Amino acid sequence: MTGGFETGISLTQALAFLAVGGVLLGIRWMSSPRTAVWGNYLSAFCMAVFITLTLVEQNLLAAGWVWGALAAGAVFGLALGLRVRMIQMPEMVALLNGFGGGASACVAWLELRALEGPGEPAVRLAAGLGIVVGAATLSGSLVAAAKLARLMPQRPLRWSGMPAANSVLALLLLAGLVCTALLPDSGLRCVSTCLGLVALAAGTLVVLRVGGADMPIAISLLNSLSGVAAAFAGFALRHFVLVAVGGIVGASGLVLTQIMCRAMNRHIGDILAGRTTTAAPPESAPPPEAPPPAAEPRARPGLPEAVAALRNAAKVILVPGYGMAVAQAQQQVKALFDRLEEAGKEVCFAIHPVAGRMPGHMHVLLAEVQIPYERFIEMEAANPLFPSADVAVAIGANDVINPAANTAEGTPIYGMPILDVAAARQIVICNLDAAPGYAGVPNPLYTREDTMLLFGDARQTVGDLVAGLAASA
Ligand code: NDP
Repeated sequence: MTGGFETGISLTQALAFLAVGGVLLGIRWMSSPRTAVWGNYLSAFCMAVFITLTLVEQNLLAAGWVWGALAAGAVFGLALGLRVRMIQMPEMVALLNGFGGGASACVAWLELRALEGPGEPAVRLAAGLGIVVGAATLSGSLVAAAKLARLMPQRPLRWSGMPAANSVLALLLLAGLVCTALLPDSGLRCVSTCLGLVALAAGTLVVLRVGGADMPIAISLLNSLSGVAAAFAGFALRHFVLVAVGGIVGASGLVLTQIMCRAMNRHIGDILAGRTTTAAPPESAPPPEAPPPAAEPRARPGLPEAVAALRNAAKVILVPGYGMAVAQAQQQVKALFDRLEEAGKEVCFAIHPVAGRMPGHMHVLLAEVQIPYERFIEMEAANPLFPSADVAVAIGANDVINPAANTAEGTPIYGMPILDVAAARQIVICNLDAAPGYAGVPNPLYTREDTMLLFGDARQTVGDLVAGLAASA
């Protein structure tokens, strides 16, 4: 689909625009659980339309290798989608971002090598930027996926020569981009490959510096960059549909990044510099103020007290976290929700923006078991409700309710806004054990005198609560 910037709009381009509209509508539908599945189908269908239009316009319908590659990609994607468990979704998203960036880098790389003639430095520059952003997205996403899957250490990885290495890489990228725009054709092949390799190294180094607790933000930024890379590749190809779709992904990813930054009280610059998530303090420095270790929670049976507290409560707030996803306890949580509602209690879910391991993780799991969306309250609206709640029940949530985030300077979650369950009159915690959550910071709620601790798999403990309420009804 070349020449789109100069000529009028062809039939295929008009159809492609319709498909862009379809993608936007699909995204809109994804904002409600009732229409989200159809939104997904619509967007996937529009992507199939884009592929078909490209094959038609490029006269590739008869090319056997294209169909072979499409079939291989489809089988790989399907197998990955079917095998991945819900709790592995963040790694999957990181990988998909990386593949998107890698694909755009390949397209831009091929386009740059194919460009002929001395003119159009802007087009060459766009191709160069497509290579840089796409390759950095690929390597950064692979590192992010490895960190999330715990194949690599969660802490920010830094060493003394790192700032110098980053400066050298930045200078090389800058020089490479200038050469891309100005060099004669003969030099382009070498420069395009070097740009890709340097960008791969730069993406790796930047994400190595990001700590595990900040990874959600890094992933949404990488998601945005995969769109930006596609848009640059689109400029190089003079394919404005690719520019439009890349722009949609880039802009929506940026909005999500901003939302996540606000939710976690972070600045993107600090995260990329590895500054906010704090590694172990230097040996000479005094240890940071930390909450008391949670290794010795008071041993208490918990269940009868928790059942009694819920039976007597008028207002209950349920707080889901990553452990609910691991236990796949959402069905039991729904049963608890139903039983409390049947008993005439006011019940809602307080959902932290980074609960779980991906944005929207808790919403997806709870909507899956038909819990009404109106009962999900986001953090800012939920926090004023805790003081009037009789019981707050945390189900596999740890970091997102950890009051140490307010006090424990130098820890990964310091400064992150939390769900203020400590303000509720009584607290029930259904958690596997007393070990710290994802960020590794002990949670003082576990040692509080009046916290009712139900240790064990959340599917079991929440099920026990439901059974206890049923028995005492
Ligand atoms: P956490 O990971 O902090 O805590 C989960 C808790 O659930 C842990 O204490 C864990 O215990 C417990 N648990 C594990 N398995 C079970 C089980 N079967 N039954 C009951 N409990 C279980 O989760 P939160 O949701 O509170 O916080 C999310 C964290 O993840 C934040 O730090 C956030 O920054 C980070 N993050 C979020 C992403 C996102 O986009 N939402 C992406 C990447 C990271 P144990 O430790 O013993 O296993």
